[in-house]
Amino acid sequence: MTDINAYAAKEAGAKLEPYSFDPGAIGAHEVDVKVSACGVCHSDLSMINNDWGFGQYPMVPGHEAIGEITEIGSAVKNLKVGQTVGVGWNAESCMHCAPCLSGTQQRCQTGVPTIISKGGFADRVRVQDIWAVPIPDGMDAKSAGPLFCGGITVFSPFVDYDLKPTDRVAVIGIGGLGHLALQFARAWGCEVTAFTTSMDKEDELKELGAHHVANSRDADSMKKLKGKFDFILSTVNVSLDWPSYLATLRSNGRLITVGAVDKPMGIPAFSLISGGKSVGGSDTGSPDRVAKMLEFCTRHDIKPMVEYFPMEKVNEALEHLESGKARYRVVLTN
Ligand SMILES: [Zn+2]
Ligand SMILES: [Zn+2]
Repeated sequence: MTDINAYAAKEAGAKLEPYSFDPGAIGAHEVDVKVSACGVCHSDLSMINNDWGFGQYPMVPGHEAIGEITEIGSAVKNLKVGQTVGVGWNAESCMHCAPCLSGTQQRCQTGVPTIISKGGFADRVRVQDIWAVPIPDGMDAKSAGPLFCGGITVFSPFVDYDLKPTDRVAVIGIGGLGHLALQFARAWGCEVTAFTTSMDKEDELKELGAHHVANSRDADSMKKLKGKFDFILSTVNVSLDWPSYLATLRSNGRLITVGAVDKPMGIPAFSLISGGKSVGGSDTGSPDRVAKMLEFCTRHDIKPMVEYFPMEKVNEALEHLESGKARYRVVLTN
């Protein structure tokens, strides 16, 4: 078995540097994927910086990888060498805990994230067979990586919260996740509003699927939206004036965050009680749901808008993401 050539952070907060390692013999249920492209997600930055406290170093980030399968373990039945697949947040799940048995393998109690097992900023990535999901015919593989974390993260709430085509949906934060959420909401049939602080993006956001674009910094326009939305999906990882957003929900409305806000969310109980509103969170999705999302994307021509960087410019790519200038997702290519 040849070494994997990757880019790793040797310690928390470090710049990535070339790092080679021997992955050992392939396990019975594992597959090796030759990485052709890998999206760069905000979670990569958070993990490199150990913001969530479970980083392990040297760390090879990258959890939106696309590539061809080069080797399969002896027990792999669902995949074959040469097939093009994508790999997201999860690399491994036990398949016998309650979440695994009930179809939420992304919540496996002993699951291993791809970044922890060694991720996709590399020439090869190794994962458990169920977590290598085939790219459907007709999908552009090179730009598909961001669907495997950013995409499934914003797709899952549509399924879990049973959104209806008659619903009015708003998306907060139009970046890597939000630009996909707008496309999903439009294809779902909903009336779509994009909350943004950069009104210069208005035309682009409408092209992505927004019927309306609202300036969230403008108190007057926020007031006009009172009681409008059935569902608000927040993709930002900063604290906002949550009560002002809750006021824009209708009766029984929900605000779901998929952005890992680092500070406690200040939510007065009365902003929920009045109107029976709720606030919640949402994670990624099972392999089956990822496959369904890919099929949905192919049917509705939903695509990540990406900017490409060569893999060896990984540090520049991370800086570009951190600067907030990425439109809308950065993808590294080998
Ligand atoms: Zn991610
Ligand atoms: Zn499990």
